[in-house]
This record gives sequence, C-alpha cells and structure tokens, in this order.
Amino acid sequence: MEETTALDVEQLHIAYRRGGEVLEAVQNVSFHVGRGETVALVGESGSGKSTIGLALMGLLPEAGKVTHGTVRFQGKKIDVTSEADLAPLRGRQMSMVFQDPLTSLNPVLKVGKQLAELFVFHQKLNRREAWRKAVDLLRTVRIPDPERRARQYPQQLSGGMRQRVVIAMALALGPRMVIADEPTTALDVTVQAYIMDMLEDLAEKTGAGTLLITHDLGVVASYARRVYILYAGSVMERGPIRAIYDRPAHPYTVGLLQSVPRVTGGQQELQPIPGSPPSLTEPISGCPFNPRCPLATDLCREVSPPMVPVDAGRESACHYAKEVFEGVHESKLRSSSN
Ligand code: ATP
Ligand code: MG
Repeated sequence: MEETTALDVEQLHIAYRRGGEVLEAVQNVSFHVGRGETVALVGESGSGKSTIGLALMGLLPEAGKVTHGTVRFQGKKIDVTSEADLAPLRGRQMSMVFQDPLTSLNPVLKVGKQLAELFVFHQKLNRREAWRKAVDLLRTVRIPDPERRARQYPQQLSGGMRQRVVIAMALALGPRMVIADEPTTALDVTVQAYIMDMLEDLAEKTGAGTLLITHDLGVVASYARRVYILYAGSVMERGPIRAIYDRPAHPYTVGLLQSVPRVTGGQQELQPIPGSPPSLTEPISGCPFNPRCPLATDLCREVSPPMVPVDAGRESACHYAKEVFEGVHESKLRSSSN
C-alpha cells in the first residue's frame, strides 16, 4: 500500500479552542488517497472538511490544533504540527486550492507576479521566464486575455477568475498531492468541467493524488471514484461513489442523497434531513448522528459504532449498517424526512 499511496491519514483528531470551550471539529478520521486517484470528502457545512485540509497543510488557524493522528505523505510519515516537516512540502509537493480564493491571494500584488514569484523562488527562474510561465499558466486555467489579466490585482478579477488563479497557483509547481477545497463553486458549469478535467489530467500525467472537498454530490459523482462521507467531524461511510449512490449503508448517507439533486436520477422530490448537526462542544454519546436518525436505538445513544465492512471496499459506521445496506429499513428511512 505504501508505494501506491499519495496520502494516508489515520485517526486524525482536531480541536478548536473557542472562548473557554473546546470544539471537537474532527474525530478519528482515517482515509487514504492513492497516487493518481481522486478521492472526495463530502459533508454538510461545518462537518470539518476545510479543517482537515488546512490541518494537513499545517495551516490551521491559531485556535485549531491536531490533537492526535498519523499522516503519511508518499509513504513517509510526516508530523503535520511541525513546520520543519511541512515547509519543504507545502506548495511544492502538496498544495491546496483554498475554499475562499481571496484569502490565498495577496491584494497588493498583481496576480501574474504572485504566480511568477513561485517560479523565481522555487525554480530559480529569472523574472522574464517566470512571468512568461505565469501567463502560460493563466492561459491553461482558461483566463481570457492572460497577458492583460496577469497585470491586474486580485480585486479587479471576477470571483470565477480569482478561483482559477488560485487553482493555477496550486498546480504551478507540479504537486504530488492536491487538496482542492470546493474548487469549482464560483465557476459556471463549463469552466467547472474544464477545471475538473484539468485536475484529472494532472493526476494522470504525474500520478498526483487529489483530495476533493465538496458538499456537492454531483461533482463527486463525476470526478471521484471513492468517497468518504463526513458528519459532525466523523466519517460515517466510505466506498466507491457509484456503489454508495446505489445502495447507501448509513442512514446519514440516505438522508444526504435525498436532500441533493442527483445527476443520475430523474425527477425526484428533495427532502432536507430534519434537525441540525450537533454543536461539537459537548461530547455526544454514541453515534453522532443518533439525534437525527430515524433508526436510533438505545445502543446508538450509548455506544459509538465502529466502521464495519458492508461490501467490497465499503465500510459504514452504523450499528445497523448491514440492514441499511440491504434495504431492510428503506420505508422508515424514506418516510422520516416528511
Ligand atoms: P463548509 O462546507 O461550510 O466549508 P466545513 O465542512 O469546511 O464547512 P469547517 O470549516 O472545517 O467545516 O468547520 C468545522 C467546525 O469547526 C465547525 O463547527 C466550525 O464552526 C468550526 N471552526 C472552523 N474554524 C474555526 C475557528 N477558527 N475557530 C473555532 N471553530 C472553528
Ligand atoms: Mg469548508
């Protein structure tokens, strides 16, 4: 496994300090991304997706802390709390497309210069060569009139264009691992498809792994083969996306699939999952989804369910995973949303 894995994360725990409270944002999350593979991390807002991405880059805000976990990058163990371990990798070997493009762009530097500096600093190119490469890169991410745009400041670009600049920066140095946090939300559908194809191309050519962070199951279905479903900072279910679409093995996944438009399905009424995610500042006993789960029993309220295998390459953290997978509770799970 070591030789084919771009990124391997085991039992990651991340907490934020907020006032006097501790918020357990990520709990016991394990996943891996193979070389050349695109893996998706999917979950509602607040489920901990960005927190995981930022932690892996060593870029958590002051209040955040990795409290436990093992991370291997290309088979080699790295300490994500150590700047000495991460600094040589960040931006070069491992890069991130940030959810909010403005936070990763310097407002007082022209976008071409921001890109060019990467080549000057890391590849020791002279200013002219670096500028030319920067313009080429802007062209690659389909920025129209790249020579002119390169001379503009971030705030002079549209949201969609800024997002493309951020993607260009993440890809500039040919990383082995790309963490893409909602990379296409500000883009229209055609550019979105183009950008995702570009990420796929990169993965194929260089063997880079991609961790696609999104709440959009439509994007996932088109671009990732495997998915991890995250809820309240914990992985609920993992497996090949098609198989999960066809036969979810966790009540949360069932709810999630009913609450989003499906690319494959025809007309279907969308039903939000009743209730809201837990606050994360008070420990939930048992399964984190139990307060919203139509199948919850005393067992679910008391005992945290381990990940159990349900099918080839599939696992679910539900005491009733097998039954959900086999469709035993279908009517109960469907009627619960009304
Ligand atoms: P979204 O889909 O909205 O981007 P997300 O899945 O990326 O959501 P995160 O931003 O990782 O979610 O947040 C996970 C949890 O951590 C949330 O409860 C959030 O309120 C909390 N959190 C995030 N950043 C901080 C911070 N700087 N200080 C305290 N709590 C934070
Ligand atoms: Mg986020």
